[in-house]
Amino acid sequence: MIHSRIGSRRTKKIYVGSVAIGGDAPVVVQSMTNTDTRDFDATVSQIRRLEARGCEVVRVAVPDMDAASTLERIKKAISIPLIADIHFDYRLALAALRAGVDGLRLNPGNIGGREKIRRVVKEALDRRVPIRVGVNSGSLEKDILARYGRPSPEALVESALRNVRILEDEGFNLIKISIKSSSVMDTIRAYMLLSEKVDYPLHLGVTEAGTLVQGAVKSAVGLGVLLYHGIGDTIRVSITGPPEEEMPIAYGILRSLGLRERGVEVISCPTCGRTEIDVLTLACEIEKRTATIKKPLKVAVMGCVVNGPGEAREADVGIAGGRGKGIIFKKGRVVKKIAEAELLYALLREIEELTGEPLCR
Ligand code: SF4
Repeated sequence: MIHSRIGSRRTKKIYVGSVAIGGDAPVVVQSMTNTDTRDFDATVSQIRRLEARGCEVVRVAVPDMDAASTLERIKKAISIPLIADIHFDYRLALAALRAGVDGLRLNPGNIGGREKIRRVVKEALDRRVPIRVGVNSGSLEKDILARYGRPSPEALVESALRNVRILEDEGFNLIKISIKSSSVMDTIRAYMLLSEKVDYPLHLGVTEAGTLVQGAVKSAVGLGVLLYHGIGDTIRVSITGPPEEEMPIAYGILRSLGLRERGVEVISCPTCGRTEIDVLTLACEIEKRTATIKKPLKVAVMGCVVNGPGEAREADVGIAGGRGKGIIFKKGRVVKKIAEAELLYALLREIEELTGEPLCR
């Protein structure tokens, strides 16, 4: 069941390609490739893997003209909207727009003077391409940093508003904003401050969050608190590692808050002295093999028949360890007994039947 958010605030709706962001649209899951954008094959393969795991909008870095000239081919080879990440050089932004990208991430304050900004804005407006102003604690303007002494939430907000004003002065309002800090508390405070000042859609993320566990924890806490308070229209979980690994974390956060439902949620018991099957291996294997399933489904893997089915009553389907055998249960009721060695295969068949989606083997 999808719940509405606590104190949900309504932002303006914009479109990145065909994907609505803001307003009454569901929170959108984004990611960014970590391949060399000039490497067409590697970049497109990664985008396809991201899409299979649920990425709805993808961003690629465009550090030079060679990368910009690869964008048109990339755009034609993928089916989710493509955002070009630009710094410093307005010509890269113009080239990306002409290549047909669906969004830009750039800060108008760092691409040159007014005339250069005007040219980018005009081209973006003609094509109805939105721009994300992305303020980052590591790249704050020197004068703002000097005044606040550190990249505080107030400093981040001032930088964001300064960049937004440059776009607004040119008559551009297809804007979304992000203000990322590596500090979870600063991120939360900054977005809360910002959301009181603007009604543009907000892109949430905790930057430089760390490796898988650390990144997942920081993102879950930072994004979770904000989303719970109705702040955030699109999210990116940031981890050091393959970006595909961000997807289950992003959907896990949204699922936990009742905001989105997608894919298989594996419910597994912590195991104890009663455990009769290898819960860890089974749970990991199920998670791995069902990673690309889109239909929402709860699958339980429980260690014993004493408490297992009862504890997992909410699950659509599950397995529980029994003596020498395992059992399959649905909605908390035991339906059949299976030899332990056959458990994984039997459960995968049940999932396939319930979702109608082929499992990756
Ligand atoms: Fe222990 Fe059974 Fe509960 Fe798992 S389901 S923690 S094995 S009692």
